[in-house]
Amino acid sequence: MATMKGLAMLGFDKIGWIEKEVPEVGPNDALCRPLAISPCTSDVHTVWEHAIGDRHDLILGHEASAEVVEVGSLVKDFKPGDRVIIPAITPDWEAVESQAGFSQHSYGMLNGWKFSNSKDGTFAEYFHVNQADGNLAHLPDEISAADAVMLSDMVPTGFHGANLAEVAYGETVVVIGIGPVGLMAVAGTVLRGAGRVYAVGSRKRCQEVALAYGATDLVNYKDGDIVEQVKEAQHGKPVDKVILAGGGLETFDQAVRMVRPGGIVANINYLGTGEYIQIPRVEWGLGMGHIRIVGGLMPGGRKNMEYLAQVLVNKRLDVGRLLTHRFSRFEDLEEGLLLMKDKPRDLIKPVIELTS
Ligand code: NAD
Ligand code: ZN
Repeated sequence: MATMKGLAMLGFDKIGWIEKEVPEVGPNDALCRPLAISPCTSDVHTVWEHAIGDRHDLILGHEASAEVVEVGSLVKDFKPGDRVIIPAITPDWEAVESQAGFSQHSYGMLNGWKFSNSKDGTFAEYFHVNQADGNLAHLPDEISAADAVMLSDMVPTGFHGANLAEVAYGETVVVIGIGPVGLMAVAGTVLRGAGRVYAVGSRKRCQEVALAYGATDLVNYKDGDIVEQVKEAQHGKPVDKVILAGGGLETFDQAVRMVRPGGIVANINYLGTGEYIQIPRVEWGLGMGHIRIVGGLMPGGRKNMEYLAQVLVNKRLDVGRLLTHRFSRFEDLEEGLLLMKDKPRDLIKPVIELTS
């Protein structure tokens, strides 16, 4: 049996390189070899915040672009040698939850999230993709392997935030948290036609990129209460939508205080710690304000990935601005993941583009 190397969660707070058997491919599945990989803040929640419980020798990672190495006998549209986009979320498409439009939760809450959760992830020399025809998408030649990794998770998650918020032409939207996910929420919000976009963050590099993606106003949460800052800039007028992509549980309270009756608070943040979310009773219209609070895991799926790829191919979005730290060796993954944990101020996203 052939073996492969991977960067794994060994247990709470511990990562390390391990050797595992190369996964076997079922009739509908594919085996892939990464072309480029990126660590995610979610990997940090998993290992160092214990967000999904203990895992032993679980290979981390859910962001990659790849080359198909092997396909099962029933796979129709992919063959060895194809360059592909790998969505972080790879649902079971026959599940009733998928049929109901919530493939992220196929066969149970969050079960569409398999890589680095219920099975080995993409931080390996090879990884397994279930239901290849439904979960993979062909990677257009115009998109580099490094840029394509942003299609795994950052673009679909940020854009999901804009979709959940149902951003419409001319609306005023606040995006709280402008790491890579929030920055993609800014970009998605602008693409959906928002008028005014407040980006809430403290790091200079992220602020610059937020402006480049079309944010109109910057708010620094280190300069005082963000509700007051937004209210002042708005001359007291509430905003239409708030997207949560960073910060803690307090952001829900802040968002409800800013948003108009009938507005939407859309969370895409992974809440790694804490017990309950508090909603301010009066600002929530005493329970009658029609302010919707929603939260969602990004959708995967071939169709979604093909559409998002078109946004890049046609130059509606330059994801290269997110890639602040570039590496070229598989072994550099460890440094990339630790960067994601420590978040130096000039970091947005590390990417490891494998050259051999
Ligand atoms: P990140 O840590 O790089 O960005 C979050 C930013 O929020 C940081 O820059 C941080 O300094 C800032 N922040 C902290 N406190 C704040 C506050 N009070 N107000 C405003 N900003 C504050 O993380 P990321 O990689 O951009 O990911 C954002 C979140 O999205 C993470 O929790 C990640 O796990 C999650 N995520 C969710 C999905 C999904 O499908 N919903 C997918 C991928 C990632
Ligand atoms: Zn992620």
